[in-house]
Amino acid sequence: AHLARIEAVDEKVHAFLHVDREGALAQARAVDDKRARGEQLGPLAGVPLALKDIFTTKGIPTTVGSKILEGWIPPYDATLVTRLKDADVVILGKTNMDEFAMGSSTENSAFGPTNNPWDLTRIPGGSGGGSSASLASFQAALAIGTDTGGSIRQPAAVTGTVGVKPTYGGVSRYGMVAFSSSLDQGGPCARTVLDAALLHEVIAGHDPLDSTSIDAPVPPVVEAARNGSVRGMRIGVVKEFSGEGYQAGVVQRFNESVELLRELGAEVVELSCPSFDKALAAYYLIAPSECSSNLARFDGLRYGLRVGDDGSRSAEDVTALTRAEGFGAEVKRRIMLGTYALSSGYYDAYYGSAQKVRTLITQDFQRAFEQVDVLVSPTTPTTAFPIGERVDDPMAMYLADLCTIPANLAGNAAMSLPCGLAPEDGLPVGLQIIAPALADDRLYKVGAAVE
Ligand code: GLN
Repeated sequence: AHLARIEAVDEKVHAFLHVDREGALAQARAVDDKRARGEQLGPLAGVPLALKDIFTTKGIPTTVGSKILEGWIPPYDATLVTRLKDADVVILGKTNMDEFAMGSSTENSAFGPTNNPWDLTRIPGGSGGGSSASLASFQAALAIGTDTGGSIRQPAAVTGTVGVKPTYGGVSRYGMVAFSSSLDQGGPCARTVLDAALLHEVIAGHDPLDSTSIDAPVPPVVEAARNGSVRGMRIGVVKEFSGEGYQAGVVQRFNESVELLRELGAEVVELSCPSFDKALAAYYLIAPSECSSNLARFDGLRYGLRVGDDGSRSAEDVTALTRAEGFGAEVKRRIMLGTYALSSGYYDAYYGSAQKVRTLITQDFQRAFEQVDVLVSPTTPTTAFPIGERVDDPMAMYLADLCTIPANLAGNAAMSLPCGLAPEDGLPVGLQIIAPALADDRLYKVGAAVE
């Protein structure tokens, strides 16, 4: 049924870069066979899932939304993919994304944009717009995203779906193409809080193949999602997540959510996290710096695209030609920014200062979590904007992640879930919940209470 749905609507939505029809049917049949033999089935047996094209899949193309990896077929599965297969999930295909996960609208994909199912002329968020759009258009029951600065939560917000960025290190990064290694985090996307929890439980947990993977039990997310409640909880509203640039309808729905939390028995506390105002600036030094290092491996020799290799050129020239053709404008912009910020003499002024701001943000969170159990905010300042509106204005695009970036810098867990439609445009608004690191279950407890 899901494959038929994809055939019927994905021409308009363009959520998928690659549909693995044969593979999906084979996995589904394998589940049927297991069931017929009376064998124990995995916890998500037969559930169809859409996978962001940033995870390596053995024998199936993995492009990361870039021309530079076109034609590359990975020889191995990411740990997350292995876990999905062990849970008997049916992987439908790979979803569209901003090139190397850099963007907030999926317009930076080398393979054309994804359209928001609520209004096809609008963006589905990014970088994981394909995954969120596949859920909102009922082409998949579950999806996987990655969140470096908001790429799970912001697409969830603008498509009326649920997205969770687990605690940094909670889900293995092995086989997840690196953008900014100290921020990147894979996580679940779904249409309900409980669905997200069921997927979270399957993909999370220690992986010796990822040196930053947390060696601790997975927080009890499913139990929390089944027992939603905020009674007796203290919930913080951060002053810095408001003001100029926030759409009236987003603020209205957010205020109603805060009211609902109070009615359900939470104590709401207003607090200040003064360093959050500098989060965006710190992020746009740290993320490009790490990206300039990570993307050095795409040299035209090891993977995918190779341009100008006709025997007359040096390896260096082939690398330069391949990168010129294979990388898009935003990726080039970030590599140049990052290379500059890391260059000798500038390190302390840029990367070093950004790391200090990062520490201040982490301390703001620590102080806040001494007073409250979770923080809430709008996920993103506006609803889905029109395709094309911000492509020529990187700063306007970066503002979409104003509220999501602090949690990445500090490594906290955070969720976005729908909290109604903005009255002025009828488009979905997202409520963000942020919990301390390793307390991912609190997101689900609160999310399930207000869903
Ligand atoms: N939009 C942010 C960026 O462009 C976040 C991307 C992400 O989370 N992968 O970097």
